[in-house]
Amino acid sequence: MSHRTIHLFRKGLRLHDNPTLQGALACSSALYPVYILDRAFVEGVMRVGPLLWRFILQSLEDLDSRLRALGSRLYVLRGSTLAVLRDLVTRWGITQISYDTEVEPYYASMEREIQALAQERGLKTYTSVSHTLYDVKRIVKANGGSPPLTYKKFLHALTVLGEPEKPVRDVSAEDFLRCVTPAEADHEKTYAVPSLADLGLEVELEVLWPGGETHALQRLDKHFQSQGWVASFSKTRTVPNSLLPSTTGLSPYLSLGCLSVRTFYHQLSSVYAQSKNHSLPPVSLQGQVLWREFFYTVASSTPNFTKMEGNPICLQIEWYHDPEALEKWRTAQTGFPWIDAIMTQLRQEGWIHHLARHAVACFLTRGDLWISWEEGMKVFEELLLDADYSINAGNWMWLSASAFFHKYTRIFCPVRFGRRTDPQGQYLRKYLPILKNFPSQYIYEPWKAPEDVQLSAGCIIGKDYPRPMVCHTEASQRNLGLMRQVRAEQEKTAELTRDVADDPMEAGLKRELQEEEELLDGAEQHSTSKRFNGVTDHKSRPCNWTPETLQLSGEVM
Ligand code: FAD
Repeated sequence: MSHRTIHLFRKGLRLHDNPTLQGALACSSALYPVYILDRAFVEGVMRVGPLLWRFILQSLEDLDSRLRALGSRLYVLRGSTLAVLRDLVTRWGITQISYDTEVEPYYASMEREIQALAQERGLKTYTSVSHTLYDVKRIVKANGGSPPLTYKKFLHALTVLGEPEKPVRDVSAEDFLRCVTPAEADHEKTYAVPSLADLGLEVELEVLWPGGETHALQRLDKHFQSQGWVASFSKTRTVPNSLLPSTTGLSPYLSLGCLSVRTFYHQLSSVYAQSKNHSLPPVSLQGQVLWREFFYTVASSTPNFTKMEGNPICLQIEWYHDPEALEKWRTAQTGFPWIDAIMTQLRQEGWIHHLARHAVACFLTRGDLWISWEEGMKVFEELLLDADYSINAGNWMWLSASAFFHKYTRIFCPVRFGRRTDPQGQYLRKYLPILKNFPSQYIYEPWKAPEDVQLSAGCIIGKDYPRPMVCHTEASQRNLGLMRQVRAEQEKTAELTRDVADDPMEAGLKRELQEEEELLDGAEQHSTSKRFNGVTDHKSRPCNWTPETLQLSGEVM
């Protein structure tokens, strides 16, 4: 049958490995590539900030220009998805709607609405999965009908399924010769990609991550020129505070589907096949995309995955409600340069290294502030270019030790963590220029610098840059006690996502964790020498510490 099809782009903004578009083109004589900019919907389900909007619009521009090169066009419309679709179906005489199936509950409910519209109007729908390596439902089935809750069980389920399918061929000009995109005279006026200003937004920050498939493929190609680097990649050896990303930086492109994860995965397989030795999951690059797949799988079948309440795998914790402390963390005003530099990079660039995410997430939750992971997740959602429903929530549960991660006694030190890989503090000087003249000796703890050093650095702590908002040693010990108590009370929930000790993947994980432990040495020693006796008051933050006492005792670490 020869359909008149609307191909609805939501994620999957690409022409390579796009099986849904490919399949829809094959059974249609006319196809309209459509993106509906449903701002109320998007901002209702995600806290999309201006940087991500810029990235999305750039990706749409790129998609349009790639479609144009093949003799087609992108139609961008604004409004509510269903209302726009209803109108277009009639106006364009549509007989089929194609779209990628997604796992997020809000997309799934949109899909149900599209199916209802199709039924009402006698239309066909054409859909397939292409945002993940597998249809995650198959992974759940291979695991006996429930999602595998540990990486080990997840990898085991994959052995049943075999390798992910290979990418399909790129959409080509021939496809659009056989199946045309009808032209409309007023295309530029009516269907062009809006500018940021059209959305009432403004971003003056430099574009470091240009959106779109073209940039995604260029970035991918550049990495694959260093096959040795790709083959030996080990996440634990990458550096959180390098001035340029020490990992691939592909996440924004994978997140919006400008890059196909299957393309990335199979290119990695080819490199591995040609290498004498290559790294393995969980630390290899394939291991990284498998973490992605893992979180998608668990999120797909876990109720309330992005919330603590009603989420069966998540520890129920009485976190502090402290909007003031949250705001200091969000706006890079904690007084810990390592934390503030990371939050500044996040605010300015929309991307930070995985271990930098570890540092700030641990600080906000179980490490120092004892504030809910949901609050941190929402801030990341607003600021990250790669903000992703499943991965963001999964990692926040991990870092707060609410699920997946169980070595909760290992707490990152907000001074020593960064200093280990950047003792001169170049990263801090870049993102916190107010501190740039501090000697390296004090750059991670400028409050310890004598007054004359602060004066000659041109930055008085407490006036030009905040004093540390907490005493890390005290806060982390207290929180450790709270966490111990929670876990003793909720052992069953904690067990759900715990890997057994003889997990073959533990070899890699142990190395990673060992690094955390090293970073923690001091705090660990401290916490065992002054044993914690249990805290019952979850609601109020202790305030027996002031910046003055801290400075006198020099006791931050
Ligand atoms: P690489 O190391 O080059 O890895 C390649 C790809 O593998 C990434 O692009 C990503 O798609 C995937 N990947 C890597 N690490 C992870 C991981 N731990 N979990 C799942 N997938 C992974 N990643 C997001 O894409 N979106 C998020 O919203 C997000 N939120 C996070 C929140 C917290 C608190 C933490 C600790 C991590 C979060 N991550 C998130 C995971 C990870 O930090 C980023 O995917 C990674 O840093 C992106 O950089 P990269 O592309 O250079 O990664």
